[in-house]
Amino acid sequence: MKRRDFLKTLMLCAAGWGIAPDAAADNLTITHALHSENPDDHIRDYIHKMKFFNQSYEDDIYITGNMKSVFNTTVMRLNRLEEVTGHGNFQILSFDDGIAIAAKYSEVGEFTRSELDFMEMIFQMEANQYGFFGQKQLKSITDRINENDVLKVPYTGNYLYMGKPLETYNSIRQKAGEEVILTSGVRGIMKQFLLFLNKTYKSDGNLSLASRSLAPPGYSFHGNGDFDVGQAGFGAANFTKRFTTTEVYKKLSDLGYLKLRYPENNMLGVRFEPWHIQTNSV
Ligand SMILES: [Zn+2]
Repeated sequence: MKRRDFLKTLMLCAAGWGIAPDAAADNLTITHALHSENPDDHIRDYIHKMKFFNQSYEDDIYITGNMKSVFNTTVMRLNRLEEVTGHGNFQILSFDDGIAIAAKYSEVGEFTRSELDFMEMIFQMEANQYGFFGQKQLKSITDRINENDVLKVPYTGNYLYMGKPLETYNSIRQKAGEEVILTSGVRGIMKQFLLFLNKTYKSDGNLSLASRSLAPPGYSFHGNGDFDVGQAGFGAANFTKRFTTTEVYKKLSDLGYLKLRYPENNMLGVRFEPWHIQTNSV
């Protein structure tokens, strides 16, 4: 059985709450091992995938079958929820508060039972089933960002944790200048759901492709202090390899700030992210 079929089975089982996703995941690992070939080939394949992370590959895992319609409605509702909540507030919105707001505002509409089950399933799934090998940072879907622990950074629409992350950001700006901008700060569960599922949606349900550039909900280090920086005026290119050609990148490298969470050729299943600043050693 191909990995894709395995996930399909897993999804269908999970949808009916017949089998816990983890039980099916054990089978998935076994199948994978049976198909293992020359380890060098795997590494070569892997490096290629991370370099061309935005392409789809034969063994990528997709959301398929009857899971697709609930996936679509969830994505749409999350987007409406962000619109109503506001881009800034949505960054740190908890799962429970998001559900409450959706129920209150008819522009969003209440999350259905199947949508909540679907999100729960995505959260509970081991992300290594579709190729993401990082560690989970937020253990529970209902984990909250405490508003007293974060500060909204003026003019950025982003939050940073007080303490080390904020100090790091301030000292970066002090030493490297004001052309350093905060492109993404603290992100709660709902925000990571939106980013990850939007990317999956644009990739025709391809969870593997999405996870090569965005951590699945619960796995993002943006949940506990890391942040992204960019060059002012560089726009979306701040999230591409071209960021390494900017003055900001050069300055940050020279000053020793680029302690990267996802360096080139990392083995976590994530593309090279030179803009992502690590603020703790977790
Ligand atoms: Zn990042």
